[in-house]
Amino acid sequence: MAFEGLTHKLQETFKKLRGKGKLSEKDVKDAMREVKLALLEADVNYKVVKDFINVVTERAIGQEVMESLTPAQQVIKIVHEEMIKLMGSTESKINISPKPPTVIMLVGLQGAGKTTMAAKLALHLRKNNKHPLLVAADIYRPAAIKQLQILGGQIDIPVFTLGDKVNPVDIAKASLEYAKKNAKDIVIIDTAGRLHIDEELMLELEGIKKEVNPDEILLVVDAMTGQDAVNVAQSFNDKLDITGVILTKLDGDTRGGAALSVKAVTGKPIKYAGVGEKLSDLEIFYPDRMASRILGMGDILSLIEKAQQAIDEKKALEMQQKLERQEFTLEDFLDQMQQMKKLGPLKDLIKMIPGLDTSKLDDIDFEENEKEMAKIEAIIKSMTKEERRNPSIINSSRKKRIAKGSGTTIQDVNKLLNNFEQARKMMKQFSDMQKHVKKENLNF
Ligand code: GDP
Repeated sequence: MAFEGLTHKLQETFKKLRGKGKLSEKDVKDAMREVKLALLEADVNYKVVKDFINVVTERAIGQEVMESLTPAQQVIKIVHEEMIKLMGSTESKINISPKPPTVIMLVGLQGAGKTTMAAKLALHLRKNNKHPLLVAADIYRPAAIKQLQILGGQIDIPVFTLGDKVNPVDIAKASLEYAKKNAKDIVIIDTAGRLHIDEELMLELEGIKKEVNPDEILLVVDAMTGQDAVNVAQSFNDKLDITGVILTKLDGDTRGGAALSVKAVTGKPIKYAGVGEKLSDLEIFYPDRMASRILGMGDILSLIEKAQQAIDEKKALEMQQKLERQEFTLEDFLDQMQQMKKLGPLKDLIKMIPGLDTSKLDDIDFEENEKEMAKIEAIIKSMTKEERRNPSIINSSRKKRIAKGSGTTIQDVNKLLNNFEQARKMMKQFSDMQKHVKKENLNF
């Protein structure tokens, strides 16, 4: 699995933060030191790591986080947001020419997965109602042309070749004519690679670029090579001014350094990722999903976001104090329920928790739960303000009135009052216990 080590380390760091409740500046700085190490071990470019940590630290020790009731979650959210920015914020679409054919030049070193990617990309674009043509312009590597023909054959996409005796610039030029005549609206040129970057190769690629004026020059790099991939990207970009990067073999990349560094170092976005040897193993590169994956958080981030939108932090603090002073009334209870409701149906919320076995959810009767909540809400709403604040005044005639007003029974009203009383008692015990523990100076 990709990013295994990095994900694990980041999760460990965040677990420690979460266990702390309120955070001090030192807590944040300690955590950032760990994040820094984790990123460096994942082979993320040193300068990228330094800048990233600076930005995150500055934001994380800011007021908005320190004063929040959930500072650890705020820190995670900031790391997530900055990670998304690092990878380019939004997905980067292929530049489609208004005047077909759109020309895509694939460049890269030998073995990076360029030829495979040419076929993957063709398949992907055909699924989007395009009519691609593959062009075999690698005349040096033995069997490169044959390989492209075989891949094209597997997915029934035509491959244009003039053999290995014609200059690649001429092949590229001729392929455009062919595409126009045969109603192909996308031309994907598989260019030659070398084991290392050399002048001759760059000259040839520049020649093709000048001749066909491509809409996209996509550099294919092997994610497993980490920082080497980033260096290769920088060199190709200097010479060819590429339009984007494709990371291949992300399925085998356990570190993730290239994915996190490419955009920051070259300024060019990652557009696609290869995630396996099959031709369907192509993913559009979404920085936000990638960041969530690296942080191993599933949808927990959308959950945090939702809670932030729905929960008024000041109110939550007031509530906490009321609980401690045992001033929590049915009115507050109603208020809490309404805040909870803003988060959406319980079932959807639970599904967002990462690592949860969702098959078990079927055993829980959510509808029944929600009906019960609605009933409680109706009962409390049928009470007067005085009754909500001081339930002990609710005698049997009041109960009758409340049941009638809420469309429930006297038993329902009794049940709620009993439960509320019990909850209050429990809270009192809990708060006494806490006070006791604090006094004894034990680590509760
Ligand atoms: P080229 O020299 O750049 O054209 O590289 P190839 O397309 O021939 O690919 C080199 C090797 O990498 C082949 O064995 C491919 O099957 C493999 N490969 C390419 N892309 C991926 C990928 O995304 N994941 C994995 N696991 N293997 C890949």
